[in-house]
Amino acid sequence: MPTPMHTFKFAAVALLLASVSTPALADTLVHNAKGIQVDAQGRLERFTGLVIGNDGKVVQLIRAKDKKQLARITKRIDAGGRTLLPGLIDAHGHVMGLGFGALQLDLTGTSSLADLQQRLKAYAAANPQAKWIVGRGWNQETWADKRFPTAADLDAVVSDRPVWLGRVDSHAGVVNSAALKAAGITAATKAPAGGRIENGLFVDAAMALVEDKIPDPTGAEMDAALAKAQELMLANGLTAAADMGTSADDWATMNRAGQMGTLKVRILGYAGGMPEMRAINGGKPSGWLFGDRLHLGGVKLYADGALGSRGAWLKAPYHDKPDTRGLSLIDDAELARQAGEAAAAGHQLAIHAIGDAANAQVITAFEQLGRRDKGDLRWRLEHAQIVDVADLPRLAEANIIASMQPTHQTSDRTMAEARLGPNRLGGAYAWATLAKSGVRLAFGSDFPVESPNPFPGLAAAVSRQDMNGQPAGGWRPHERVSFATALGGFTRGAAFAGFAEERIGSLDAGKHADFILVDRDVSKVLPAELARTEVLETWVAGKKVWAKK
Ligand SMILES: [Zn+2]
Repeated sequence: MPTPMHTFKFAAVALLLASVSTPALADTLVHNAKGIQVDAQGRLERFTGLVIGNDGKVVQLIRAKDKKQLARITKRIDAGGRTLLPGLIDAHGHVMGLGFGALQLDLTGTSSLADLQQRLKAYAAANPQAKWIVGRGWNQETWADKRFPTAADLDAVVSDRPVWLGRVDSHAGVVNSAALKAAGITAATKAPAGGRIENGLFVDAAMALVEDKIPDPTGAEMDAALAKAQELMLANGLTAAADMGTSADDWATMNRAGQMGTLKVRILGYAGGMPEMRAINGGKPSGWLFGDRLHLGGVKLYADGALGSRGAWLKAPYHDKPDTRGLSLIDDAELARQAGEAAAAGHQLAIHAIGDAANAQVITAFEQLGRRDKGDLRWRLEHAQIVDVADLPRLAEANIIASMQPTHQTSDRTMAEARLGPNRLGGAYAWATLAKSGVRLAFGSDFPVESPNPFPGLAAAVSRQDMNGQPAGGWRPHERVSFATALGGFTRGAAFAGFAEERIGSLDAGKHADFILVDRDVSKVLPAELARTEVLETWVAGKKVWAKK
């Protein structure tokens, strides 16, 4: 315990140090780096290193000419001439979903029923504590006999506990007999409307009969999923993510990690709907917790579904199914009511809209809210995938942030063409048009729907091509953006979209020293090489938290 005199002396010395020129002796210098970031005007900016203070924040960004005054810093980290970027931020992901997905049995790419059985057997042996075995990803269309698996096929491998294995498209799942028993399903059970049950196979609406019986994860399982998600994020160069649809249990898990000191990444939470908003933190935004590693600042709402299942709500019928326009999930009055309640509680709004009708509905709701309150609103339109060309200019006018996922474009382009036909794609994944009109872009991946790896996203953003370079020349290539705009979307833009731009998104003085070292100069390589960039080290708050083995 220091005496008052010591305290006084220490304070005086600290004051003296602060008043003379930075950097101070206790700082750390990261040097010999090829630093690249996006400046406040959206241009690429190059630097050679940074000075990190004891608080894990950037004291100074170093350019070649700054060398002399740094001589007195003795704590040095040589970046070895490697490329250094600000930690990347995923503006739209599902943190717990990423962790759970990675911990469950992965059946993607199974070549046969025997292969599925083999993987199930190995997973069951490796996870003796799991009360249920849950997996997904099989596709019998890729097997020689194309026969659907049955309960008997699974019983042959695991009979001691319930098994639920979802098909690759999540529209069917197969169970073993233990799961039938646990779910109370007998030969007399009738499938609900819109569903089907056959030899242990549950299709569409029938799936809930089993899925609703799978026990909620325990606290320990939640902790394990969060740890796994963090590991995947850090390994992919993500130091922060917006968590789109945080539940009260998710929030409790993230808080627990913060209290235990195991929260390494930064999570910008968006409550998954109004009941979750009310359940978390008494309905109020949380402020920044655990050294800016956790923040609940908004609410995520849904206006429609997705294109794949034709749940996206369109202004005109589906080109490949003219009897439907998809589904609106919320009417105008209810959307206005929920959005108003969230905004009044101080929450930022992030609303999912895929189809052009849903996008128009949400833009209108934002415009109407904006008229009532002229603060710094930053409405977030999540996905903004298919926007009517006539509605595109309304985003900039209403100060709406477009939170978009470049890899959705490369994954969905042929499906989007089928669903909408050739003449309604003018405002589809319209990154460049929106950016040019003054809209701020925030880029993400929607992990685990897509890989959390942001580099294929950066490559898609600049090329409109997938990992295999398809299609040649890029899909609707006039919507490509520059590398600076792409990198900005995954750094400054994503930070701004989360009201975090004073904390993260660049390595300017005063922000957290969150950065990554990568194996190539991402500003110079071709898109195919950009997509394959490997992360070598990930640093958060000036500490190395992940390194490639
Ligand atoms: Zn999502």
